Amino acid sequence: MTASQPKPCIICVAITGSVPRKSDNPAVPISVSEQIESTQEAFEAGASIAHLHVRNDDETPTSDPDKFAALQDGLKKHCPGMIVQMSTGGRSGAGQARGGMLQLRPDMASLTVGSNNFPTRVYENPPDLVAWLASEMRTYEVKPEIEAFDLSHIFRAKEMADAQELLGTPYVQFVMGVKNAMPVDRLVFDFYVQTVHRLFGSDAPWCAAGIGRHQITLNEWAISAGGHARTGLEDNVRLDRETLAPSNAALVERTVEICEKHARPVATWRQARDILGLRPVAA
Ligand SMILES: [Zn+2]
Repeated sequence: MTASQPKPCIICVAITGSVPRKSDNPAVPISVSEQIESTQEAFEAGASIAHLHVRNDDETPTSDPDKFAALQDGLKKHCPGMIVQMSTGGRSGAGQARGGMLQLRPDMASLTVGSNNFPTRVYENPPDLVAWLASEMRTYEVKPEIEAFDLSHIFRAKEMADAQELLGTPYVQFVMGVKNAMPVDRLVFDFYVQTVHRLFGSDAPWCAAGIGRHQITLNEWAISAGGHARTGLEDNVRLDRETLAPSNAALVERTVEICEKHARPVATWRQARDILGLRPVAA
């Protein structure tokens, strides 16, 4: 093997999600102004992608495009260059309401291409809705992040890419540790990585997210295996068993330390945009 420069690691911060409430951790940002402040701290700590959900004033999830618009405007002002990734996940709405924010032309959006179980219900992603979300993303030049809750989702992304239904090489995120979905299993993780490289090429970037206490495990595995990493209060509200994470930035700092341990430089937003093949920042 020839010596090569270590690849920069993109850190994504999932700031809010649909599930955690202030009663779980008061640092979970709920209002748009709290979300902007929390993201700016995480950006300054090293995150280059902000994965976003929005909430109503009573903390319940919503897909309200007006809230997403206000959040995106604030991030463009306070975190210039940071990649804005909006969730089209099913906890925040039903049917086509899940994609109502895509016309805001965020840099990226999450796209789950198949169904699976969640802790208390079915996560429904029927083929016609997936096809509609993907077509809206093409219309508005939004790069999807494929949320792989199962091996079949990686193969479905390959079929969609071959049919020109996705922009560019799919960027797959493995999600592990959701109750009733794929557990945290090292052999499966390694097979996911092999499968991404076999289907999309040895240079294809990929990412991994672990839920709850598994967040740090998946950070370790992904960073040491050459992938990209996701952290944030959406997936995990604790630093350890006894300690609540004081902020999204604190979780980003922990991920930066893991990058240092494995000699991976942390990607700047420019490097992250280049790695993911995103359109340039609008003037
Ligand atoms: Zn999410």
